[in-house]
Amino acid sequence: MKFSNLTLTANGKARAFVEAKKLKTLWFNTGTLCNLTCKNCYIESSPTNDRLSYLSFDEYLKFMNEVKENGLKLLEIGFTGGEPFLNKDFPNMLNHSVQQGVEVLVLTNAMKPMLNNRSKIINLNKDKLTFRVSIDHVDQKKHEKIRGQNSYKPMIEGIKWLRDNNFKMSLATRLMWGESEEHTRKAFKGFTLKHELPIDVSSKKDLVTFAEMDIKKDTPEITTECWTILNKKPENVMCSSSRMIVKKKGKEKPSVIACTLLPYDEAFDLGQTLKESMQRIYLNHPHCSKFCVLGGSSCS
Ligand code: SF4
Ligand code: SF4
Repeated sequence: MKFSNLTLTANGKARAFVEAKKLKTLWFNTGTLCNLTCKNCYIESSPTNDRLSYLSFDEYLKFMNEVKENGLKLLEIGFTGGEPFLNKDFPNMLNHSVQQGVEVLVLTNAMKPMLNNRSKIINLNKDKLTFRVSIDHVDQKKHEKIRGQNSYKPMIEGIKWLRDNNFKMSLATRLMWGESEEHTRKAFKGFTLKHELPIDVSSKKDLVTFAEMDIKKDTPEITTECWTILNKKPENVMCSSSRMIVKKKGKEKPSVIACTLLPYDEAFDLGQTLKESMQRIYLNHPHCSKFCVLGGSSCS
C-alpha cells in the first residue's frame, strides 16, 4: 500500500527524505477556531473546529526561550490559525515577536476579530511585521462563494485600517476560477489601485497565489531518485528549515510539527522541543508529493 512504510515506497524503492537543516521559520498555530468556514480550508477551520486548541502566551514563550537558549538564528516567526486574533493571548505573542528583530508574518482574514484588537496592535513595532490577508477573488460574489456571505466588506474594512495605520500587508489568493495567474495579477492590480494599497501585485511575495489541488486525487510516491529527475533540492522543501508549534486538543503540552501542511498527522509530530524536532523527515504523505515536490509535475 502507498504511503505506509516509512522508508520504502509501495514498489520497494527508497522513499525520499529531507534532512533538517537550520531552523529559519518558526510557525505558531494559535488554534483552529475561525470566524469563517471557507470551502477547502486546508486545516478545516470553522467556528466549531477546535482540534488545535488555543496556544497560550506561556506556551509560545517556552519555545521562544528555547530559540534563545540554543542560539538559533531564526529569520522569521509566522502565526496562523484558524484566525489568530480569536486567541486572546495572540496580541501578547505578537508584541513579543516583533521585538525579536526578525520578520513576523501573520496570516489573517482581517475581519472583526482583528479589528476588535485594534487598540492592542496599533502601536506595535511595524518595521518587520507583515499581515497577509486572504482574498479568494477580487470580485465580492466569488470571494463570498468560498468564504461565506458577508465576508467581503468586513475584509475591505480591515485592509483599509491596516493601510491607514501603516502596517505592511501582503495578499494571498487561490487560482481556482479557470483564470490564469497573469489575469489574476491584473485583476489585483485594479483592486490595489482602487483601495490605494501599497502592494506590488507582480511580486510573488506581495501577492501569493495558491494553485487549487484536489486532495483526494491519487499522487505518486516520491523516491530518492525523484530529486534528480525533477531537478529539485530537498533543502528547498519547507520541512528542511521550518517547524510549526501546535496544541492538540486534549494534550497537556504543545507539539512541534514538521510543517504547516500536516497539523493532524501523528507521524509528523516530532516531539515537544525544537531540538528533538530537527530530524530527518521521510516524505510519507500524499501532501509531500502533491504540494511540496510535484506541484503539478511528474517524476514517473
Ligand atoms: S479564514 Fe483561513 S483559517 Fe479561517 S476558514 Fe478561511 S481559510 Fe480557514
Ligand atoms: S508536506 Fe511533507 S514534504 Fe511538505 S513540508 Fe510537510 S513534511 Fe515536508
